[in-house]
Amino acid sequence: MKIHEYQGRQLLASFGIPVPAGTVIESIEQAATTYKQIASESGSDLVVIKAQVHAGGRGKAGFVKLVRSPQEAEEAARFMLTNRMVSVQTGPEGLEVKKLLLAAGVDIADRPGTPNAKEEFYLAITTDRGSRRNVLIASREGGVDIETVAHDRPDAIIKEPLHPIMGLQQHQARKVAFDLGFKGSQVSQAVKIMLGLAKLFEAKDCALAEINPLIITPSSATHPDGQVLAIDAKFTFDDNATFRHKDIQAMFDPTEENPAELRAQRFGLSYIALDGNIGCLVNGAGLAMATMDIVKLHGGSPANFLDVGGSATEEAVTEAFSIILSDHNVKGVMVNIFGGIMRCDVIAAGIINAATKHKNPDGSTGFKVPLVVRLEGTNVEAGRKLLADAKASLPTLQPATDLTDAAMKVCKAVG
Ligand code: GDP
Ligand code: MN
Repeated sequence: MKIHEYQGRQLLASFGIPVPAGTVIESIEQAATTYKQIASESGSDLVVIKAQVHAGGRGKAGFVKLVRSPQEAEEAARFMLTNRMVSVQTGPEGLEVKKLLLAAGVDIADRPGTPNAKEEFYLAITTDRGSRRNVLIASREGGVDIETVAHDRPDAIIKEPLHPIMGLQQHQARKVAFDLGFKGSQVSQAVKIMLGLAKLFEAKDCALAEINPLIITPSSATHPDGQVLAIDAKFTFDDNATFRHKDIQAMFDPTEENPAELRAQRFGLSYIALDGNIGCLVNGAGLAMATMDIVKLHGGSPANFLDVGGSATEEAVTEAFSIILSDHNVKGVMVNIFGGIMRCDVIAAGIINAATKHKNPDGSTGFKVPLVVRLEGTNVEAGRKLLADAKASLPTLQPATDLTDAAMKVCKAVG
């Protein structure tokens, strides 16, 4: 489960990590007044406006803007709320932006000895499956180019494993702070942030807790070494653990989720939308993976991963068809069911019923796209007979003898 940046900032703050104050708005009209309120509270005319969507790369996409007047704030809000955000993390269709965060803007100190560079750092904790530890990941090259840095200069990334029981140790955090180049009182500020992030990661069962960038403000009379602040927050939580965090559950924003995936969840179906044109309806995650592989092998491209589970009801199968066909890219459907606990005749009856009852967008009923069905397992003969007898009501149905036959038939059918 993902959350918005503004929610992530609240979590950071609750674990003692300093974050500039901010307010969320949902309309263009709120921009100017909110700007004035934040500017007067922070005593600076610099305010940052940031699109709140479950994707990063906002800065480069033009959806993080620094503004210095109510007019500029309104302009930026208008742009972000009326355009879809397309970034490297969204896919070409982009995301609708429904919420904006307005926060006190901060000045970022110049990096000493490095012209045109600012003091922006990367800091994250995630689970490293290779070492079976949680790991602190840090880099001096934080900011909007971290992916390029990680790819081109892996040596610029510091990794520090967390002890399975004791978590991140003070001495480890100090070492990382020195390696990152923090000086004077910046060191203790950075250490406090790292320890806070490690506690938060553990306490809330995070899969990823990321601050990018962590910044240093320029030297001032009250803070001669500058202040170390988090100005972005990205969190992913372990879905298997959210049941024990009511506060995290309350942050769930269903409007950011794929509607078909949400619908599938309600019927106990595991559905993940993909970008191909062959819908797949399969029982069992392993078989679903194998089905996608074999479709690829024969030159096709799966439109989804869909596991109806081991004991799917007719209702779930009906829903599964409807979800698959709600994707307008689907030009053919491949059903691949192994009747182990379920009986093939029951499944065949379910498929026939679901397919004949299927409602098309034009109001008509019945299946219009090619439907290739491969059944195997208990009562398979009875199941195949039912399908053969249903030919009249399901003109697009093609029974298949095995996995390869089914993949070849569906690939041929969609061209
Ligand atoms: P992302 O692109 O989605 O990761 O969004 P970020 O919140 O990380 O913002 C992108 C970049 O905008 C940061 O790396 C900073 O360089 C810049 N930025 C964001 N907020 C501020 C701010 O308050 N002050 C200044 N000077 N720059 C900011
Ligand atoms: Mn960022």
